[in-house]
Amino acid sequence: MAEIRLEGVGHSYDGGTTWALKPMTWTWQSARAYALLGPSGCGKTTLLNIVSGLLTPTVGRIFLNDREVTGVPTAGRNIAQVFQFPVLYEQMSVYDNLAFPLRNRKFPKKEVDERVRKVSELLGLDGHLKLRARRLDAGRQQIVCLGRGLVRADVAAVLLDEPLTVVDPAMKWTLRSKLKEIHRDTGHTLIYVTHDQTEALTFADEVVVLKDGEIVQAGEPAELFLSPAHEFVGHFIGSPGMNLLPAEISQEMVMLGAQEAGRITGLEPGPVNIGVRPEFVKLGKGLHATVTGVDRMGSHHLVHAEIDGHPLTAKTGTDVTPSPGQTVQVAFERAFLFRDQVRCGELG
Ligand code: ATP
Repeated sequence: MAEIRLEGVGHSYDGGTTWALKPMTWTWQSARAYALLGPSGCGKTTLLNIVSGLLTPTVGRIFLNDREVTGVPTAGRNIAQVFQFPVLYEQMSVYDNLAFPLRNRKFPKKEVDERVRKVSELLGLDGHLKLRARRLDAGRQQIVCLGRGLVRADVAAVLLDEPLTVVDPAMKWTLRSKLKEIHRDTGHTLIYVTHDQTEALTFADEVVVLKDGEIVQAGEPAELFLSPAHEFVGHFIGSPGMNLLPAEISQEMVMLGAQEAGRITGLEPGPVNIGVRPEFVKLGKGLHATVTGVDRMGSHHLVHAEIDGHPLTAKTGTDVTPSPGQTVQVAFERAFLFRDQVRCGELG
């Protein structure tokens, strides 16, 4: 396993007119499981392919531990990569597919057998080892690919690019926890690309959020939920995402229309957005809001309201059922201020 360091790494597919990946300096720590999370087109695959060596970055340098690998092709990097769709030797048996990366590296036969059996057992492939890979459905073929990516304990890193896309939803939960188990066993440096927040939050030690070719925040799942550093993180993570209420700082007071939302020092007067997650909007005493509707979700209610003409959602217990048109009071338990989308303060 290795630490992967990017120094000023960026990529443009059109000679520098636009940047699919804006130049960044970033370290993936050794033996940690990362999720690289972001919407379609934000540069996840570009970043992954740069790490694996499938793509040479337009600018910057890449290091595996202290060895520079910027110009080194994939084969010289000792990195395993699993793609979105199955890529395997269809004529070979499942066993031989799993054994391939180990035999290729001349591992002793006994060790090959031990590793193949361990990984296949963890991934539920032990009943299929003798089958030719082409006889499996696409979902199971993809699990074989996962196994092949994870079978070697001595790789510098394992890169997974939306690896569960073709796997059916019921299997996804199982596989994610299996992946965690295998990671604990091998201690790989693992980067898992996904646009699915649930996948990222349940799997990773650390989630790296990418937007428009830029890392906007990285942290443990709870940190991204509790302390979003960027409006995008607040919106993209959470269900529903964070509320954003346009407000104004005037004389150290944060004003929501005519109402005082809280006091803040050290910020210039002018517009800000208040960001507050639905979980932290409490009905009780506080700002006046007009209820616009209630969604009954079974385990909780989503109370929708308006403050100063702006929508606000509160996640409440099932006993809270205000009527549309009713005026309620709301308090924010944990709210942040954002300027130019970046967090600039906490509402006191
Ligand atoms: P997705 O989740 O849809 O796979 P992504 O986050 O992985 O998206 P990338 O595939 O890295 O994003 O693409 C980042 C940007 O670079 C996008 O605007 C995409 O259109 C562009 N891009 C990607 N590959 C190429 C290419 N080979 N030639 C030109 N532009 C490309």
